[in-house]
Amino acid sequence: MTGRPDSATITTVAELPRQFVLGVDLDGVCADYYPFMRRVVADWLGRDIDSLPTDVGWEMTEWGIEPGEFHKVHRFAVVQRKLFLEVGMIVGAGPALRRLSNLGIRIRIITHRLVIEHFHQIAVAQTVEWLDRHGIPYWDLCFMGEKGAVNADLYIEDSPYNVEALLRDHRNVIVFSHAANTHIDVPDEQRARTWAEAEPLIVARYHAWERRGGAEEMRRRASDRVAG
Ligand SMILES: [Mg+2]
Repeated sequence: MTGRPDSATITTVAELPRQFVLGVDLDGVCADYYPFMRRVVADWLGRDIDSLPTDVGWEMTEWGIEPGEFHKVHRFAVVQRKLFLEVGMIVGAGPALRRLSNLGIRIRIITHRLVIEHFHQIAVAQTVEWLDRHGIPYWDLCFMGEKGAVNADLYIEDSPYNVEALLRDHRNVIVFSHAANTHIDVPDEQRARTWAEAEPLIVARYHAWERRGGAEEMRRRASDRVAG
């Protein structure tokens, strides 16, 4: 039986030290979405997988997906092929995130997977199971497209639309390289092709945040607000 929570034993979120928040995209950053979808699309179209180019743009038109057909293929991939459960992990993502989490970074998963209506239960359930299966450490799980709204200190993202929106919003973002985002002009310290490249960039940002005051600064500002 669960009783009423004892307020004396509960620490309110506001009293906890503020952690550095890393906003982590899933598809194309942690989940190896394109190779899986290439197999699915080859089956869907009845084509030999080798005839589909490995480099593909955001809409997958290079694979012969007709405009307007993407949603059907996507639904088929999730419902019939368990896309979000069976998709592979991008090399090194899990171990890198576990090390970053051990450093004290808060992992906030932010994904826009609920793009198609009326099958959210299956998409969310597969996602949660996949995250645990691969040992991805996280405390927050956000299903939303407007990534800037969840206020991470640093984002790692591959979608060109999201990257451009975050940059317009003056957010810190590391672009995880993909054929569809190579046109985005960012300094070297804002682009990673692999998790081996991404991890030290993230650690450097985290340490810079700590040097600027990090959690102590956040606590001081919070207590000033209370005192004021
Ligand atoms: Mg993505």
